[in-house]
Amino acid sequence: MSVMLRIVNGRVYDPLNDIEGEVRDICVKDGRIVEDVPPEAKRIDAKGMVVMPGGVDIHCHIAGSKVNLARKLQPEERRHDVHPRTLFTRSGTGGSVPSTFTTGYRYAMLGYTTAMEAAVPPLGARHTLEELHDTPVIDKGFFVLMGNNALLYRLLQEGRKEEFRQAVAWWINASRAYTTKLVNPGGAEAWKGGRNAYITDLNEEIDSFGLTPNHVVQALVETAEMLNLPHPAHIHCNNLGVAGNYKTTMETMQAIGGHRAHITHIQFHSYGGPFGGKHASKAPEISEYINNHPNLSADVGQVMFGKATGMTADAQLGWMLYQVTGNKWVNADVEHESGCGIVPFVYEDKKYVHALQWGIGLELFLLSKDPWRMVLSTDHPNGGSFLSYPRLIRLLMDREFRMEYPVAGSGDDGELLLLGSIDFVCAA
Ligand SMILES: [Zn+2]
Repeated sequence: MSVMLRIVNGRVYDPLNDIEGEVRDICVKDGRIVEDVPPEAKRIDAKGMVVMPGGVDIHCHIAGSKVNLARKLQPEERRHDVHPRTLFTRSGTGGSVPSTFTTGYRYAMLGYTTAMEAAVPPLGARHTLEELHDTPVIDKGFFVLMGNNALLYRLLQEGRKEEFRQAVAWWINASRAYTTKLVNPGGAEAWKGGRNAYITDLNEEIDSFGLTPNHVVQALVETAEMLNLPHPAHIHCNNLGVAGNYKTTMETMQAIGGHRAHITHIQFHSYGGPFGGKHASKAPEISEYINNHPNLSADVGQVMFGKATGMTADAQLGWMLYQVTGNKWVNADVEHESGCGIVPFVYEDKKYVHALQWGIGLELFLLSKDPWRMVLSTDHPNGGSFLSYPRLIRLLMDREFRMEYPVAGSGDDGELLLLGSIDFVCAA
């Protein structure tokens, strides 16, 4: 039997169909919006409320083995944030890495209806599917890690292109993933097994494979396109967080050529300054490139001040964050496939780099000419919790609020923050 619904009297916002605040009915049949439903359909009176499409979190970390490790690592932050059982909901815990039930309820409370777990090694897929199954209310999916997979590297090295494509297709299908994910291609492979080698150049050879990060990016981007996956290859570029890394990001985007690809948490990859030296903003350059290349999309990975958890398949970065913070940490390898690093983290408004990261994220949003291709994210919980999204949206929509924000005009060394387009951020 069909399930039908008529939502009446709500103020409807639907940017895809140019509806902006019109009071009108919305009809739903079997989970899809339709023109009309019969009078006997269930009615919901939404008078005084906004009716809009559910939010989609295109990149977050909510399920799977590394998420579970992060929960275990930080019992202290969950102890004081308990979601009690009610008549309609099950109990759970919050903090920066909530339990499965709490994750679903809290996304739903924000008006989000979909969240994509962004980094799962093939061997972790079953665990992830179990946790996603356990996450209520919202729709969800995940991206499977392939950028540091020794078996795929071997096929590429031996020029077995067709078998490479078939292996990627098999892994996507067998793991039930939505698309392929690349994290620091080459970097985690060189780091695995206690070798702890760094790959910083896209043309540097990865161990004994005779491959470079550029080869890996091109092969996986083209394969994702050829397989017609619903979302293109999702790329976490090399050199995350390092001053001067915007050059690596630009080179990656150039290597992609005219193919479709998504560059994730691009804020963390938009830094100028001498390589490994003092950070500066290169948001205008990165924005201009994305604006002029409609084959590319990105999400921002906005930093929000307060508690976060660094949680990444970029094991080398996990080690670097541990060294910066001195906090407790976990690093792990996944056999043949990937690695991960987890470090509790706090972003502080008076720290130069943190304040700069905050400003660069806002610049990237505000400089984008196509908001469908520069998507909102905090890379939850890396830049901050998804619970900060309402505050972030207000920061983008309300100039006065933005100007009141307690970022000092100076860094901890008393120096003025010189963002690449601070005038734009202030004037927008
Ligand atoms: Zn991420």
